Amino acid sequence: MTDTATTNRCYCGCQTAIGYGRTFAAGHDKIAEAAYLAVHHNGSVAELLKSQGYGPDNPVTDAAVEAGAWKKCDHCDYKGAPESIRNHMAKVQKAENTQRESLEKSVRALGGTWDPSRGMQTLRDAGYHPSEKYIREVYRRLADSGLLEKVDEHRAIYFVIEK
Ligand SMILES: [Zn+2]
Ligand SMILES: [Zn+2]
Repeated sequence: MTDTATTNRCYCGCQTAIGYGRTFAAGHDKIAEAAYLAVHHNGSVAELLKSQGYGPDNPVTDAAVEAGAWKKCDHCDYKGAPESIRNHMAKVQKAENTQRESLEKSVRALGGTWDPSRGMQTLRDAGYHPSEKYIREVYRRLADSGLLEKVDEHRAIYFVIEK
């Protein structure tokens, strides 16, 4: 019992009947997009962007962030739709957790004194590329949790507290 009057047809013009609330048959939005670009912008996304004043000096990705439609990563220059940012941040978070656990394991196992360069070297040996800022953060956290204690108030050098 289909009421043909309320049946939607694909917006690409292929006359395919599609479900309620949809505008395209699967993948046909790309066909329509390509046709639109061909008609109005010689098939070129660059020309489309230029026609709206976007380009290398006025990035459309910045405009998307400014408009509130996209977000920027807290840690790097990555920009994307909210869902892409969530995935990206989850990956960053996971990588940081793995590095922190790896460094904490080494600190516990090796003991002794830890300055930023020792932490950097330890994580590099484990295949990571940490920043010194990140190492200092991990040390601060390990100090908060009672594993490390600062040797010198003014320098990021710690020793492992025997437990
Ligand atoms: Zn279609
Ligand atoms: Zn990032």
